[in-house]
Formats: sequence, C-alpha cells, structure tokens
Amino acid sequence: MIVTITMNPSIDISYPLETFKLDTVNRVIDVKKTAGGKGLNVTRVLKQLEDEVTASGLLGGFLGESIKKDLDEAGITHSFSPINGETRNCIAILHEGKQTEILESGPVISDAEAEVFLNHFTDLVKDASILSFSGSLPTGLPKDFYAQMITICHMYHKPVILDCSGESLKLALQGEAKPLLIKPNTEELADLLGRDVSDNIEVLKEALQDSLFDGVEWIVVSMGAKGAFAKHNDKFYRVEIPKIEVVNPVGSGDSTVAGLTSAINNGDSDNDVLKKANVLGMLNAQEAVTGHINLDNYQKLFNQLNVSLV
Ligand code: ATP
Repeated sequence: MIVTITMNPSIDISYPLETFKLDTVNRVIDVKKTAGGKGLNVTRVLKQLEDEVTASGLLGGFLGESIKKDLDEAGITHSFSPINGETRNCIAILHEGKQTEILESGPVISDAEAEVFLNHFTDLVKDASILSFSGSLPTGLPKDFYAQMITICHMYHKPVILDCSGESLKLALQGEAKPLLIKPNTEELADLLGRDVSDNIEVLKEALQDSLFDGVEWIVVSMGAKGAFAKHNDKFYRVEIPKIEVVNPVGSGDSTVAGLTSAINNGDSDNDVLKKANVLGMLNAQEAVTGHINLDNYQKLFNQLNVSLV
C-alpha cells in the first residue's frame, strides 16, 4: 500500500469571472470546489493508476469533513488525524486570462495534535510499502516535522518520496534518516543551493553532487516543458520530452510524484521510473482539472520520451 501525506490540505475554490471588479460585488455562476493540496493531487493520480493508496495528514472542522466526503465519493481510502482548527479554503479567481489567488494560511497545529498525528502515522507506516509526502507544513508544526516523520519511516525500513521546499526540505536532507527521493523543480533546487541553476547538463550534474544531497538515492529535477534531469546513486539521466498542447500545467509536479512513487513501488527500471513520471506530468498538463489525467494517451507519449545516461 502507498501512503500519501498532505499536512495542510485545502478546499480549492475556483471563481471564473469575465471581469474582476474591485470594491464592488462580483457574482459567480460556475463555482468549482474540490479537495485540494499537493498530496491529494498525488493520491488522485495514483487512484487512476489503480495503485492501492491511502491518503493521510491532518483534517479539521466542517471543511475537513467535506474533504473526507469528496474522497469517499472518489472511492479513495483515507485515514486522516483530527485537529481542532478548521481546514483552509484556497480561492483562485480566474479573470481576463489572469489568476488571482487568495490562500488562507490554515489552522495552527498544537503540540498535542502533532503527537496524536505521529502515533497515527506510525501505525500507517507499518502497513505501507512506500510513502509520499507533499506540500508545506501547517503553522505550529516544527520545520523539522518531515525529518521526524522520515526517521519513523526508517525505523520500519519504509522509503519516502518527499516533495516540499524551503526549510522543511533542507532539514529533511540534513537529518540522519534520508528520503529515498526528492523532486525539486529548478527554482526549488536553486533555492536549496542558494545559487542560480541553469538547465545546462554540466551545471545540473555539479549541483546534484552538492554535499547537501549526500545519502539521497534519487534526485529528480523537474523542468516543466523541458522535461527532467535526474540522479540515481552515481548515474545521471536527461529526460527529453516532446512538445505538447498544454491546457493547465498546475499540478504536473504532483502527477510526476505519483508516477515516481508508483513506479518505484512496482520495482521498475530507472528508465521506466523516469518515463512514467514525465508522462504523467505531461498528461496532467493536457487537462483542465488538476490531478486528473487521461490514461488513453499514456502509451503514445511513453513511446515518444527519451531517457539517456549523461
Ligand atoms: P507544480 O508545482 O505545478 O505541480 P512543478 O514545478 O513541481 O509543478 P514541473 O516541472 O512544472 O513541476 O512539471 C513536472 C513535469 O510535468 C515535467 O517534468 C514535465 O514532464 C511535465 N510538464 C510540466 N509542464 C509541462 C509543459 N508545459 N509541457 C510539457 N510537459 C510539461
């Protein structure tokens, strides 16, 4: 069983407006509300791949219940830990070809709630074959919370795919127990290293050999329309992808993480791990709905990718 973790989920609300008027009333007809958060996007793609998956993390209040209902309706198994605060709303106003976002920071997690979560999480780890953690940590949790969770996974010899950024990623990399795989995009990689990183192969090779990554088996740098660059132990790979018609690339990184998790869980070859991840990222970019893919186009794209040792 794959376990996905979303520590700061949300109800994602989209308000499409022809024009967005400030300081007056805007009426919206076509409102869409979905269970959101990066880990839930990963979960939805894994479900479509027919992998056995359980979604976990923290949920609270009326909106937390609404997320559970949404997951139930999608037939997704979930096992969240309760919090007293209310799960957040994230609003995207789509207007005049622009996207204005209003993101609530979300509930503040108490020490007691963190402890209840870690106990619950430990039980899930025992039954998991692999775990995938995505997104930011909510306020109140220490920045090394993912590092603590990875330590628990190591106690049970369970691999972790980690997709987060900033301080929580840095602390997870500096911990004694390492994630099996991280998937920064180029911006996140530059932020980690504190310097610009271009898409030049030699520059990327050097960047991924930084001591910060010592002990991390897989680093997959996703590069949007330019595909990906990856390091697995001492091998480096360039993934070249064809040009595609893009509808909405938001969440492509999450779809990529679903592919990495699924393929590694299946024991696939490096070539197939990287191809599956990129094909799923591309399939997400070809759809309007985040975390939704059309698998009918999977094989055709798979055959067009090129993974080479560099
Ligand atoms: P997000 O944060 O929106 O989830 P990300 O920055 O983590 O995205 P990206 O590098 O943008 O991740 O995308 C992940 C993968 O999806 C890419 O490696 C690529 O395979 C595919 N992809 C994303 N955008 C495009 C695009 N415009 N054209 C083709 N493929 C894309």
